[in-house]
Amino acid sequence: ERFVFSLELNNSSVVVRVRPLNTAEKARKAFQCVFPLDKRVIEDIMTDMNYKNDLIQRVLLVDPEKFENNILRQNRQHERKFEFDATFGAVSNQEDVHETTTGPIIESVVQGYNATVFAYGATGSGKTFTMIGTKERPGLMTLMTKTLYEKLDNQYQVLLSYMEIYNEIIRDLLNPSGGDLELLEDERGNIRVPGLSSVKAPNLSRVMIVKNQALHSKLFMIDLAGSERASNTQNRGIRLKEGAAINRSLLALGNVINSLASKTTKYVNYRDSKLTRLLKDSLGGTARTCMIAHVTPSSSNFEETYNTLMYASRAMNI
Ligand code: ADP
Ligand code: MG
Repeated sequence: ERFVFSLELNNSSVVVRVRPLNTAEKARKAFQCVFPLDKRVIEDIMTDMNYKNDLIQRVLLVDPEKFENNILRQNRQHERKFEFDATFGAVSNQEDVHETTTGPIIESVVQGYNATVFAYGATGSGKTFTMIGTKERPGLMTLMTKTLYEKLDNQYQVLLSYMEIYNEIIRDLLNPSGGDLELLEDERGNIRVPGLSSVKAPNLSRVMIVKNQALHSKLFMIDLAGSERASNTQNRGIRLKEGAAINRSLLALGNVINSLASKTTKYVNYRDSKLTRLLKDSLGGTARTCMIAHVTPSSSNFEETYNTLMYASRAMNI
């Protein structure tokens, strides 16, 4: 007997991915203190945990000092529950993540909506693995592109750009020697990066004619800076400057998320960082947004994981 799942993705969704415990963590005697209750886990053990018929996907975070050795026997008082649109654990693969995140977003993009998908989390939590992946296990950039081609006929033209924002400086990664780029906003509120190069998507035999230009949409796929730097104030010298600027993007993004999530605040300030200015017309409003928050399962990263899950929970209200 299986539960039937339907996952409603509206304008914004927040999902959490927990990577497997790695050998270095095991060698340090770290143990799993983060439990994603994804659909498989719910199907298998939810009934044992008094969550029967309760299909909301959660992450359970257990205080490592109070851990009882077995999550099923855990005292519920020492765990925190965080609810998300979807959760992915060690048994989930790249395709599972794509099916729930970038897959549905492509549908909106081909209908003319802007969209932003961003990977959030501390360094080492799996952001780049999700976004780029490996040769054997390609990530969302590849899976997204494949799905996009399947949806397209020759009425569409696809342009790809690749840039980096580091210390509030924008660099064109398709033309790294080209110097710093600026952001401009035209009178209609469209954000542009003049001089940013773009390439026509490589599947040119299928993407040829631009017919009457009726729809125009942008999809941003963002691998954010490690979130631990946003809270680390111990940096010195160059590190301080770097930390402060990275702070700026992440803090500004956090503020935008808070404003969008707030029932009372009407004003959203996108101006505090290049990242939020760039995303101004691709976050909130009619734009689709998906945050993929990443955490490690390890007891040694408890604080960082707690911070990430709190940040992601706030984004759930958008
Ligand atoms: P980040 O970009 O957040 O700093 P990475 O994506 O580089 O983290 O991941 C750190 C390490 O963990 C890499 O070696 C990566 O291959 C591995 N890893 C991350 N997520 C997974 C996963 N879901 N399954 C298997 N290995 C993973
Ligand atoms: Mg990375």
